[in-house]
Amino acid sequence: MIRNILSVVVTLKIIFKYFIGIGVFQKFPKKAFRKKEKLIYDLEKCENCLQCIKTCPIKAISFDESHQRIVINEKNCVHCGFCAEKCKTNALRIDFED
Ligand code: SF4
Ligand code: SF4
Repeated sequence: MIRNILSVVVTLKIIFKYFIGIGVFQKFPKKAFRKKEKLIYDLEKCENCLQCIKTCPIKAISFDESHQRIVINEKNCVHCGFCAEKCKTNALRIDFED
C-alpha cells in the first residue's frame, strides 16, 4: 500500500518536472522561480544502515561493497527526498544549486 502511494507520488513528480515543469519554467528566468535540486551525501556522517537504499522507490541508491559506502545514481534520482527523510544521521539531504 505505502509502496503504491510512493510510486504515485514519484510518478507525479516526474510528470510535473519533465513534462509540465519544463514547459512552464522555460518561459521565465530559471533562477527567479526555482533552483536545481541536488541530493547531497556526507560520507563522514553515514553509518551504512542502508535504510536509504530500502526507501528509494526507484532504486537510485546502491551499496558499493569494495568501498563500503552507498552510491547515488544521480541520473536516476528524482530528488524526492524520501531517503533524506529516512536518514537518521543527516548524511543525506536535498540542497539547491544556484
Ligand atoms: S540512511 Fe543515512 S546513514 Fe543509513 S546508509 Fe543511508 S546515508 Fe548512510
Ligand atoms: S532523493 Fe533519494 S529516495 Fe528520492 S529518488 Fe533520489 S535517491 Fe531515491
